[in-house]
Amino acid sequence: RRKWKKMVKVLEELEESCGTPVGRLKQVVDAMAVEMHAGLASEGGSKLKMLLTYVDKLPNGREKGTYYALHLGGTNFRVLRVHLGDQRSAILGQDIARQPIPQHLMTSTSEDLLDFVASSLKNFIEKEDDGLEQPSPRRRELGFTFSFPVKQTSVSSGILIKWTKGFAIEDMIGRDVSECLQQAIARKGQDVRVAALMGTLALGHYNDEDTVAAVVIGTGTNACYLERADAIIKCQGLLTTSGSMVVNMEWGNFWSSHLPRTSYDVDLDVASPNPNDQGFEKMISGLYLGDIVRRVLLRMSQESDDFGPASSKLAVPFALRTPLMAAMHEDDSPDLSEVAKILGEVLELPDVPVKVRKLVVKVCDVITRRAARLAAAGIVGILKKIGRDGSGGIAGGKFRSDRPSRMRRTVVAIEGGLYTSYTLFREYLNEAMKEILGEEISSNVILRVMEDGSGIGAALLAAANSASE
Ligand code: ADP
Repeated sequence: RRKWKKMVKVLEELEESCGTPVGRLKQVVDAMAVEMHAGLASEGGSKLKMLLTYVDKLPNGREKGTYYALHLGGTNFRVLRVHLGDQRSAILGQDIARQPIPQHLMTSTSEDLLDFVASSLKNFIEKEDDGLEQPSPRRRELGFTFSFPVKQTSVSSGILIKWTKGFAIEDMIGRDVSECLQQAIARKGQDVRVAALMGTLALGHYNDEDTVAAVVIGTGTNACYLERADAIIKCQGLLTTSGSMVVNMEWGNFWSSHLPRTSYDVDLDVASPNPNDQGFEKMISGLYLGDIVRRVLLRMSQESDDFGPASSKLAVPFALRTPLMAAMHEDDSPDLSEVAKILGEVLELPDVPVKVRKLVVKVCDVITRRAARLAAAGIVGILKKIGRDGSGGIAGGKFRSDRPSRMRRTVVAIEGGLYTSYTLFREYLNEAMKEILGEEISSNVILRVMEDGSGIGAALLAAANSASE
């Protein structure tokens, strides 16, 4: 009895410290907008790096031709080819090769990693060419999305600032990513030009010109958005043809005292290869959610032997991956048989009683709900910064006060396995958007999923930027 109560207490304390009432979310919204401003005001002015991308020309739907893209994410690596017709959303065809990045390459050398990338690209191009009557042009336009913090130095080059998501390849930090890739490709005897390092936003904008921002929530998390050039204070006199520029926020590193942090978050951070870094990402993204849950369950198991043998896998870091945590969370069988199966097979906890399984589901719910709601607050923070949150400002125009301002239609492109594959996460996020913005404003804000945006979008950017040359 006493032990059961202790376990319940662990859960209650968790719920309490992970609380995200709408008032708190609004504080996070404000903090995000303030930090964005600070990061744009001066170099190092905020934990948000607010990196310039030099992308001021987003695809508008009128691009045509054949383009390639490479996408190096957290777990997977993709090569794509897209064929564009000459009207909006006329992606005539696309071929994709996808493969997991071998674990050992994540901590090897830049040469090993990029040689792997370049070989995959070469195989892909050769294989595809076999099936064509006419070989594709010798020089290929290639977009490259590299999902790590890069300080862009031009539209097609950028320097790696640091690794995240479990990667650690020392010799690549401080080097130009495109150049490294270009060299690797040249080593394979291919002639491909690296055109740009940006994606989901480009696909969003290609499909819908009201798209103002893009958010990725997968293994890691990040966001970028279209900012007015004159708001980028740290780069005075920035001239762009469109008057705006895509800013890569690197929002995974966002931090605010309003974020509901628990001892589990602190422990996870300390044990990570990048302590004190990527605080927002560590509360939100797929690499970490399962491990936060594991830490809570471990704590519970120390309070009670209802969980089974102390020798279980619960003490093993990252033993519980987020997709399996999601499967437990979404188990709707009456006796929670899926939960039992995963606890037994993955964590080596056989025979966990049903009432304890219910606690496990609840823990998953608390952690995922917090993550989704904080992500929603982050998105609204971006909208607030650019005056699209309905709080007046630009959207209100000259008529304020009693006359309800007409809010412009606003689209945010969204991508990543956590949002697309984890239904409850998505529902919590969407629900929180409504809570924060209110029913009326939120009806003008559309979150639109971009399947494979980071890949296809990179190809589209290559297209948008080659057309002008
Ligand atoms: P990446 O971020 O590695 O480029 P994705 O956007 O596809 O790739 O995201 C993959 C991540 O999404 C996984 O690491 C995992 O954390 C999460 N994920 C994938 N499928 C699911 C699922 N069914 N439920 C919960 N999370 C998932």
